[in-house]
Amino acid sequence: MQPAPQARRSLPLLHAAPRVEPRTVRVSLTDRCDLACVYCRPSRSDGYLEKRLDDDAWRAMIRALVQAGVRRVRITGGEPLLHPRVTELVAFVASLGVEDLALTTNATLLAERARALRAAGLQRLTVSLDSLVPERFWRITRGGRLDRVLAGIEAARAAGFAELKTNTVVLRDDNDDELPALTSWAWERGIVPRFIEVMRVGEGAHLPPETLVGHAEMRGRLAHLLVDEDGARDEGRGPARYVHARGDARLRVGFITGTTDTYCETCDRLRVASDGTLRPCLATNDGVAAMDLAERGDVGALVGAIGEAWALKPDGRTWKGCTEDTAADVSMRAIGG
Ligand code: SAM
Repeated sequence: MQPAPQARRSLPLLHAAPRVEPRTVRVSLTDRCDLACVYCRPSRSDGYLEKRLDDDAWRAMIRALVQAGVRRVRITGGEPLLHPRVTELVAFVASLGVEDLALTTNATLLAERARALRAAGLQRLTVSLDSLVPERFWRITRGGRLDRVLAGIEAARAAGFAELKTNTVVLRDDNDDELPALTSWAWERGIVPRFIEVMRVGEGAHLPPETLVGHAEMRGRLAHLLVDEDGARDEGRGPARYVHARGDARLRVGFITGTTDTYCETCDRLRVASDGTLRPCLATNDGVAAMDLAERGDVGALVGAIGEAWALKPDGRTWKGCTEDTAADVSMRAIGG
């Protein structure tokens, strides 16, 4: 059994007054996952949290987040579709009238759930897709079936989400020859492909450094498809930079470059782990344990705990995000990737 992330504080020096307010939250509904991607976890049996929030506790937590000013919610994990009542929880978040409600999934269970999630008010969906070659996909995910994931993506297309994206973590000598194929495949289906630099977070810190394919190299591999411009971020929508296709500005590719570039200064993101720990930053285990408050349904006290967690947010001017040594001790699966 994996111990709960420790609630502790870092050096006060790192926490000069936060520049932005918490507007975006990533909620890890469960730390359980049915895959074990090589850059994310060491095996399928690396242990789970001892206790997770129940549905009422999640409702109190989400009410408190909205009261504290959060306007954009992304549900993630672990694998959020393993939560038996993910659809009901999505409907609850939607009922609070947030501006943006999105979910990140590995899509192994999406074929059965896409339509209900859309009907419950989920607006946008991101699917992790590291390869279009079944054997590779199986190897990178340690046992994932590509056909199920592709069926899930088709169901999501049919369900009519406002936006569909894919996330591909690019690994040298593994899937780095697939960038053009993944891009064309996604564009043909109205999907926005995104390519992610492997970060030294969790298991990513144990991969050989040469596994990293940096942004410049990725751009080189897509040079024939994309305009020769830096691209731009979508306002309020996280760190990805989008570059559009040569000859068609409606087609885009996103790049997430947490290793060669850090973008902490404008980060308005808070995370909630499935045990209720409020986490101000992906790259440290700092946080405020709030399971008890959530279980008591004490929304007022939770708003206070959110403020406390936000005060722990590292100073984005000096902090170098996922390149900091502390990132290696973080489990992306446990805290919500
Ligand atoms: N199970 C869901 C899924 O597969 O999309 C959500 C959780 S998963 C941890 C969320 C994202 O984290 C995925 O897109 C995954 O590729 C990314 N991720 C995990 N570890 C990473 C690492 N070391 N470097 C870069 N991205 C990572």
